[in-house]
Amino acid sequence: MNRAFTGFPGVSIVHCGDAEKDHGHVVVLRWLLCNSISNFLTSDPMNTRSTLVDRAHVGARIAALLRQAPIEFARAVYGINDHAGGRTDTMAAREVARALRQGVAVTEERAEQRARAYLPTAGQEHCPRCWVVYGHKSPLRFREATEERPETAACHACGAEYATSRG
Ligand SMILES: [Zn+2]
Repeated sequence: MNRAFTGFPGVSIVHCGDAEKDHGHVVVLRWLLCNSISNFLTSDPMNTRSTLVDRAHVGARIAALLRQAPIEFARAVYGINDHAGGRTDTMAAREVARALRQGVAVTEERAEQRARAYLPTAGQEHCPRCWVVYGHKSPLRFREATEERPETAACHACGAEYATSRG
């Protein structure tokens, strides 16, 4: 079985075909990442004059961000469950509470719909967390890789930071 690690205990993302099976005591999130990154690279007019290296770089960024969408969905589910269970001191629960204060009720269904619809555009990449939790398109700012750390994309709206290259 190919389970995706979500970073949260008891939460796994499994392939659609495996979703009906008994996975034991875990929250099973049905997920199939069917988005193809090649479309981003061929359909983006900003990229037509770029070098192959730049295209590969942008492709790696987009791929890294796409991988975050199901993880943000898992995080949202975790937060919803924590919030409902009165465990308000977790990061994920605080995010759900913050969204509620802003008038956004985070539901599993909405979060999953948005996670599946997450589609960052090359050159205008938006934050996976803001999209999944709030439905907002917050721009990400990239920080170039250094010797010590990979390239990262940071969101100033929610504070999320993602590694977008292997450095
Ligand atoms: Zn954000």
